[in-house]
Amino acid sequence: QFDVLVVGGGPAGGSAAVYAARKGIRTGILTDRVGGQVLDTNAIENFISVKQTEGPKLAGNLHEHVEDYNVDVMNQVQATNIERKDNHIEVELENGAVLQSKTAILSTGARWRQIGVPGEKEFKNKGVAYCPHCDGPLFEGKHVAVIGGGNSGVEAAIDLAGIVKHVTVLEFASESKADSVLQDRLYSLPNVTFITNAQTTEITGDDTVTGLTYKDRITEENRHIELEGVFVQIGLVPNTEWLDDSIEHTKTGEIVVDKKGATSVPGIFAAGDCTDSAYKQIIISMGQGATAALGAFDYLIRNTTP
Ligand code: FAD
Repeated sequence: QFDVLVVGGGPAGGSAAVYAARKGIRTGILTDRVGGQVLDTNAIENFISVKQTEGPKLAGNLHEHVEDYNVDVMNQVQATNIERKDNHIEVELENGAVLQSKTAILSTGARWRQIGVPGEKEFKNKGVAYCPHCDGPLFEGKHVAVIGGGNSGVEAAIDLAGIVKHVTVLEFASESKADSVLQDRLYSLPNVTFITNAQTTEITGDDTVTGLTYKDRITEENRHIELEGVFVQIGLVPNTEWLDDSIEHTKTGEIVVDKKGATSVPGIFAAGDCTDSAYKQIIISMGQGATAALGAFDYLIRNTTP
């Protein structure tokens, strides 16, 4: 039986495992891939104190740091259920095995919702981006599009407008659903165009993105814009579908946590992009992982016998 079992091995899970292991308690981490979303990232320039690194390199460092401690690392393993039994937590795996732990930390992350048009996959990290905080500066002085005119799309466009030459926002519906204060701010910017009723049909390019084609849903005409970057902003989906309703979550599936990372179920903690944290970034996920591990340790010394 573990004292702390971490489910999900991205930045949040890696950090939680290191913090837990440093308390000298029995720590395990299971994940379907060590590194998480970081593995899908090229340049990382906002992991403070490391000026520049690459995703796979950071994932490798994370793995190494965890392995440096007495942590049972279970890679390529998927959790399918978690339940609180009388005085312990049970985590069921895809292969039918059941692991027991006194506490658990959920750090299963999230995935960006994809638009699913030709060119999106091919040009991912070659002009197609999902995170304006991360990749905005790579498009300095260039023309980019933001797909999605809701709150996140409009926020992204305002953010990008300060860096890039021009931003074209494409909204599928006939109007933006963003908060009006954000819309007012957006429309006041000189280098932003907002297009409604626009259905993106293709992202084009050679080595990198060179343009985007969309259908005007009113006239049914296809239009093409030449640009160098496309930010897809149609939602971030937490990897929490496998959890049942006993763990409180928001309507979009994000796990609700308190300031110690505790969920609504005693002994189950959560950290990172799978939670209702306001911002989803590597450094934030790692901080939350540390918080959840310390929260779990605190829980252990108050609620369990050695
Ligand atoms: P994740 O990284 O999503 O890790 C969760 C892990 O849990 C994954 O390995 C997942 O496969 C695993 N998992 C999920 N469900 C299960 C299950 N049931 N059983 C077992 N394992 C499971 N942030 C920055 O700060 N700077 C950047 O430059 C940056 N660039 C980015 C570029 C891209 C293309 C993307 C997609 C994201 C970027 N981000 C960046 C965001 C950053 O990667 C995330 O905020 C961070 O990885 C979240 O960490 P996490 O540990 O919470 O989740």
